[in-house]
Amino acid sequence: MKDTSLRIADFKDSIFGVISRLAREHQAVNLGQGFPDFDGPEWIKDLVTQKMREGHNQYAPFHGTLNLRTEVSNYYKKFYGLNYDLESQVTITVGATEAIYLVIMGLINPGDEVIVLEPFYDSYVASIKMAGGIPVPVTMHAPDFNVDQAELQKAITSKTKLLILNNPHNPSGKVWTREELMQVSELAIKNDLYVLSDEVYEFLLFDGAKHIPTATLPGMYERTITVSSAGKTFGLTGWKIGWICADEKVSRACRLIHQYVTFSVSTPMQEAVAEGLKKLDSYLPEFVATYKAKRDFFYKGMKDLGFNFTIPRGTYFMMVPIESKTQLKDVDYALELIKTRKVATVPPSAFYLKSAEGGKYLRFCFAKKEETLISALANLKGL
Ligand code: PMP
Ligand code: GLN
Repeated sequence: MKDTSLRIADFKDSIFGVISRLAREHQAVNLGQGFPDFDGPEWIKDLVTQKMREGHNQYAPFHGTLNLRTEVSNYYKKFYGLNYDLESQVTITVGATEAIYLVIMGLINPGDEVIVLEPFYDSYVASIKMAGGIPVPVTMHAPDFNVDQAELQKAITSKTKLLILNNPHNPSGKVWTREELMQVSELAIKNDLYVLSDEVYEFLLFDGAKHIPTATLPGMYERTITVSSAGKTFGLTGWKIGWICADEKVSRACRLIHQYVTFSVSTPMQEAVAEGLKKLDSYLPEFVATYKAKRDFFYKGMKDLGFNFTIPRGTYFMMVPIESKTQLKDVDYALELIKTRKVATVPPSAFYLKSAEGGKYLRFCFAKKEETLISALANLKGL
């Protein structure tokens, strides 16, 4: 038989799938792939059943149900003062992953360069490659995961069209400050770049950290494409309801691709998420408190095991330095821990193209039941 396409010639199984498979094979506690091992709230699950019973079971409008686009538009206005027209500027997708793919396919021509701030969510680079673009990594240096403005400036060329940033940041848990966002924004404006701002962890913030959408910065509304998803906010990663908020031209480009890739997104799930977004005010305090308790509990456990690092202020991940424990690099150490300690983590070097800094860390996901976190810590005891 003839070969499959060159487009995917250097693609491998994603690190998340590989680690989850190894965790199953070795019966390891899985703190690797980012998903809660507990369910989202009962009330939102009940809403899906209700929406199905009410007859929301046929194709949704291709750009999203009216209710969900309305509620997405409403919360951007209410929480951040951002105006997105629900007819022309809000597009519902199969999770943020489809959203990222559509934005990149909609903007990037073969040969265009895209700045990716590493460590990055792995789908960015894969989508850039599928579009024929060139990923240009700029490192957010550990342990603070700050971007050096001079390095960023140097990486931008006349071919750069897009910069991708993630805030709050997976895998470091960093929450960007206004000053940091301003530095990147200034360069985006100066060099006429689009910015894809992946904000899927926008509500997972602790210790008074505030989310600042990139689109709210001076001069950034027009050039920012904001992507988010219900998966993290409602602890239901399997629902795969995401969205894109962008200007009319970029939204149209994304929709033109979306109509041929997925056409439309699960109708009852969209209707339930719309109801969920209406309840954000009453829902969020308990949601954040639940994850904060997990973060605090796991952080203390890791400190007690002798791991030294700063507590993250966002997301449900921790980048834990391993150099005090092992000579091994992240991939080998992650394999060793799965096999000998029955604890699965993600080796972050999968999130880097350029820097070797990821080799000195493991990423732990703490979005797990207390008993899961207790088992993991017990297994790691004595390291
Ligand atoms: N962006 C980041 C930074 C992520 O961590 C993830 C995965 N959880 C996604 C996007 C994808 O989100 P979704 O599951 O909605 O596709
Ligand atoms: N975003 C999740 C993580 O970082 C995983 C999503 C996926 O498996 N693609 O772990």
